[in-house]
Amino acid sequence: MTYTVTLIPGDGIGPDVTTAARRVIDATGVDIDWQVEEAGTDVMDKYGTPLPDRVIESIRKNKVALKGPITTPIGTGFRSVNVALRAALDLYVNLRPAKYYPGVRSRYQDVNLVVVRENTEDLYAGIEFEEGQPQTEELIGILDRMSNKTIRPDSGISIKPISISGTKRIVEFAFDYAERNDRHKVSAVTKANIMKYTDGLFLHTARTVAERHPEIEFQEVLVDNMCMQLVQKPEEYDVLVLPNLYGDIVSDLCAGLVGGLGVAPGANIGTNASLFEPVHGSAPKYAGQNKANPTATILSGILMLRHLGEEDAANRLESALAEVIKQNVNVTYDLKPDRTGGVGTSQMADAIIAVMQR
Ligand code: NAD
Repeated sequence: MTYTVTLIPGDGIGPDVTTAARRVIDATGVDIDWQVEEAGTDVMDKYGTPLPDRVIESIRKNKVALKGPITTPIGTGFRSVNVALRAALDLYVNLRPAKYYPGVRSRYQDVNLVVVRENTEDLYAGIEFEEGQPQTEELIGILDRMSNKTIRPDSGISIKPISISGTKRIVEFAFDYAERNDRHKVSAVTKANIMKYTDGLFLHTARTVAERHPEIEFQEVLVDNMCMQLVQKPEEYDVLVLPNLYGDIVSDLCAGLVGGLGVAPGANIGTNASLFEPVHGSAPKYAGQNKANPTATILSGILMLRHLGEEDAANRLESALAEVIKQNVNVTYDLKPDRTGGVGTSQMADAIIAVMQR
């Protein structure tokens, strides 16, 4: 079977790491027809936008995309391409596994957890009112009257919407993911004791979803406690499901537990399309130098293979990558004990392919 997948190389180190990922994925033998689509700062002159419509159309048609990082242009009026893609395709799940691979420099060894972050609501919804604007003054007046609390007149305001429907679908995803991937516990992480009508609603909704999955353990954790627990005993956690903002922060914490950005993969998943990409950005200082670590993009490609149902290919690629990391010879500089030396991005891909073809 041939899969058609949209490939967005991105900019900065994006082309280097996506080329490496494409080569190792092709070497698994899975037949992929890659449709390359350009997006990012490098194409702004050509198309007048960092996100041409054809990119979104291609993902809508193919339903699966692998993407390199894209620089967010500063001072041009364009919002982040990444945020725009997630919104346009309603990619409501941000899936971020944090798994330790022997050979990676890390303070922890026994970590294998998955963060399921809601991707569309919460303080990230982008509903903001600037300090000093007439609308903001009007809103403050309304809120003062309705809530018998006083908001200082020199305040800016961000709105935090969390819905039952938005929560249901993300928590359902977390339980389904746990079932499909032989995981045993889902922890819902909120600040429900303080924000009763938003985080409280998230937690109550999560409880109702959990009742439908009695075979998976369900746990409720407050986000502040969660941060401490993760630093003290990360091995006790399995699948975490969180509203958008906490998910953003806690998933970076989890990436830090297993060696940082170079090894942190991600997936943005919706009902009609899925986009796989590393968590890291475009690291402009290493652009075009064949120096960046391709691991996070390769791990994102492995998530993609699993999403396509190519479990065997995903396992073979993951084993080969793990072996190369463990041998610690043909790895990029950042995986070396003193962060010097190492091989180039494409040489690390060569080594992974050589292990698979052995
Ligand atoms: P960054 O992730 O690009 O870099 C942070 C640090 O990590 C830098 O020191 C960088 O050199 C290093 N690093 C990152 N990836 C690496 C890799 N694969 N191998 C080796 N070292 C690596 O974060 P930043 O500097 O905050 O952002 C740069 C640009 O990327 C910004 O424009 C930002 O908006 C964008 N960005 C894009 C995405 C995305 O496309 N999803 C995500 C994050 C940031």
